Amino acid sequence: MMRIVLLGAPGSGKGTQAQKLQAKFGVPQVSSGDLLREAVARQTPLGVQAKAAMEAGQLVSDEIVLGLIRERLAQDDAKNGFILDGFPRNSDQAGSLARLLEDVGQPLQAVLLMDVSKTALIKRLAGRRVCRGCGAVYNIESLPQGATTCERCGGELYQRPDDKEEVIAKRLEVYQSQTKPLIEHYRQLGLLKVIKGEGGLDQVTARMEAALAPPKEPAEKKAKALAKPKVDLAPAPAVAPVVEAQPAEEKKAVVKPVPKKKVAAAAKTVAKKTKSAAKKAVKKAAKKSAKKAAKKVVKKAAKKAAKKATKGKVAKIAKKAAKKAGKKKSVKKVAKKKAARKK
Ligand code: AMP
Repeated sequence: MMRIVLLGAPGSGKGTQAQKLQAKFGVPQVSSGDLLREAVARQTPLGVQAKAAMEAGQLVSDEIVLGLIRERLAQDDAKNGFILDGFPRNSDQAGSLARLLEDVGQPLQAVLLMDVSKTALIKRLAGRRVCRGCGAVYNIESLPQGATTCERCGGELYQRPDDKEEVIAKRLEVYQSQTKPLIEHYRQLGLLKVIKGEGGLDQVTARMEAALAPPKEPAEKKAKALAKPKVDLAPAPAVAPVVEAQPAEEKKAVVKPVPKKKVAAAAKTVAKKTKSAAKKAVKKAAKKSAKKAAKKVVKKAAKKAAKKATKGKVAKIAKKAAKKAGKKKSVKKVAKKKAARKK
């Protein structure tokens, strides 16, 4: 199932890529431009009305285009999906498409924006040649020089009237003013995927396929999921779960959601309490360490003082002893002198 829109300026490769995706995924390309060209070629009343606007590079009226798209999407091959190419092209068409798909219960899956520089767009449009027989699209850059017939069916190659240089400018202008705002519209709906539209054809297709692939589960998440025992491996509970046994009213009470305001108020109180508890703890710790530090200082000072005190005492005692010793010496000397004189 693929329900996508290809968005992008004229020449951004929507048609070419839509054909490739169509072949690969088996869902039809629904191109508003092709439907209109067909109507013009068959000269249906709608085709006759649309012709002038197309040749001038203007948009055909929403009514005409929407009628053609509605008819095409109702066909059997579009039941399993579609690749919309060139539709919607303005915000009214985007609204109509949303309603149309809502009615059939098939909402859009993604919108791929083909991002191509203006220089490349002009080169592609001016060099484009289309086969009248099978509709194959070529560019003079890749065709053998002077080639005028289709490689596939031999049909005549021609230049679309709106690919003439004077019309190209108008079409790009219309894209800027009317279609480009859809980028933001689909971005806001979460549907937009931007694809770099320059490079090889297959390279661009690969980018588109990658953008459409479902997102890969992160490896870690996958591993965790695998490691978890599956629910059906768990032993069956011996008794019925509590919720089952509860009366209806109790059950209601259990699942009743707590009002957001209450939750917020409770969270605030907890935060306040936590804050003040933290402050108190810091104060206490500061006091404790200050006390400890003070004790240490006092102890040190006391030790020093004691040391000093002892040193001082020892010095005094030593002095006294020295004095005494000195006196004794002089007494001895006098006694000696006295004894000598007696002799
Ligand atoms: P395309 O082949 O998509 O470039 O379309 C060729 C021309 O057809 C445009 O320049 C318009 O004149 C007309 N056309 C195609 N699609 C739409 C649309 N969705 N709304 C109005 N006009 C369209």
